[in-house]
This record gives sequence, C-alpha cells and structure tokens, in this order.
Amino acid sequence: MTCISCGSSSNSIIFDNSFLEIPITQCNSCKLIATGESIEQLDKTMKKYYANATPVGEIKDTIDLDHKTNHGSYLMNLWKSHFDYCFPLFNESKNLLEIGPGTGLALRLFENKGFSVTGVEANSKYVDFINDKLIYGKCIQGFAEDLKINTKFDIIWLSHVFEHLVRPDLLLQKCSELLSNNGFIFIAVPDCQNPKILNQSVFDNASSYHYTKNTLKTLVEKNNLEIIKCESYREFVRIEGRGQLTIKKYFPSFSKQICPFYPFKKTDGDNGIEIRIQIRKKNIS
Ligand SMILES: [Zn+2]
Repeated sequence: MTCISCGSSSNSIIFDNSFLEIPITQCNSCKLIATGESIEQLDKTMKKYYANATPVGEIKDTIDLDHKTNHGSYLMNLWKSHFDYCFPLFNESKNLLEIGPGTGLALRLFENKGFSVTGVEANSKYVDFINDKLIYGKCIQGFAEDLKINTKFDIIWLSHVFEHLVRPDLLLQKCSELLSNNGFIFIAVPDCQNPKILNQSVFDNASSYHYTKNTLKTLVEKNNLEIIKCESYREFVRIEGRGQLTIKKYFPSFSKQICPFYPFKKTDGDNGIEIRIQIRKKNIS
C-alpha cells in the first residue's frame, strides 16, 4: 500500500486478518495503520461491505424508538461533550455541514441550538429518517467527496466517520474547499494509541484507518491544513463517574469547571478512547 499520508511504499503487515477479512498494514515511515495491502483492495472491500450493510440491532432500534435507547443516550452524551469542546470556536459561525450523520441526532441538536444544518449521508434509510425530523435543515444522499455545492460552511463536523473513509486525504482537500476562511473542521476518531481500542478498531469495526494523535496530525498537515488542537479523551472510570455525578448535582458550575467535557476526560497516556482534532485553513490571522 502506498501510504495516503506520506507517500512511502514501505510498510509491514501487523495483523494477518481483520473484521474486513484483509490484512492490516503499517507505514514504516509515518506509522499510519491502514486496512488492506493496497488502496484498490481497501476500496473494493469497503464498497462490498457498505453495499450489504443495513441498519440492524441497536441502530435499527435507535431509529424505531427515535434515540430512546442506550445507544441513543450514548450518542446524546457524546454530542454534548463534543459541542462543549468546540463551543469556544463557534462565534457567530452557524452554517454547519455534517459528513456521515448516521441517525442524525447531532444535526437535530445543532438545529435546536439555532445552527443552519446540512448533512451528507450515503445510507438512504438514514437520509429519509433525518429529513423527516429536521425543520429547516436538509440531509443530502451521497458522498461528501462528490458534493457539488456553492455554499461555504463555517463548521464541518465528522464524528466517528473519518476512520471509515478510503481516501481521507481527498476528503480533507474537499473539506478545505467547502470551508469558509474563518471556519473550522472538527473530527473525532477512535484513539488507536490505546492497544484495547486498536484491537476493537481492527477486529470489531469496518475501519479503513486506525489513527493515533501523531498519524492523524501528520495526515492533516500533509494536506496543507492547520491544527488548532488535537487531544485524546478517555471515559470516566466508575468511581470518578459517581463522584462527578454527586458534584454535578450539588455544585453544577464547579463541576463544569473541573470537568468540562463530562463523561470524558483528557488524557496524555495510552488509555484514550477518542482523539478530537480541530482544524482550520492555513494563514488565517
Ligand atoms: Zn506514511
């Protein structure tokens, strides 16, 4: 596989098999971990996987019960944490594009907060469900890479989508075209610096790339974009969660101060579950 990030063609197989039933390779130069031995193999495998993927199990229930499920409340907490994380960057910027909104909860929550929202989603079942729920916003069926639209967006949002793309480098270039000069891109992906998360990413998910903070930062910088912030977050362990809930109940503003992104906490170790990165165009003063 020629590395999509640094262009090196030297890589090693680090897992012989994966969820997508093809090997996992690591670039010997920039260390990016990819699914497959070539882009062609990855592309063919992902297309076949997504052609057969229909919402089942908890995702189907989440749509049928309109997010009143465990998965729905997980998505709600995740969005709240991401929203607070990006809050200082919102300014007057309210024109938002979400790539891969899935069941569309984030689009609806942003719309409730007064944002003007657009989604691009490949799965037509999700698209119909989302358009049924949005009041002013709309969701377009298709791929962001093919999006032909004259609008510029202040915010481009990718929550747990970026790790499933075959050519994330090309998507970053497309995002750069769609982004207004003062806008920003927010991306959240699993933190594969954590061996447990890498294992899940390889064996339980249809992930095309398995990022660490460093490999993600390299990819973004190679595509001529500037990083505002890139950090890893872990979930609360049970005892911290209980303590935090008590503080939250009695001292809500203190709780916000000591733990602004509950139920997630920043980490510098290899116990993160999620990388959050905020990106902007270069040379913006
Ligand atoms: Zn590389």
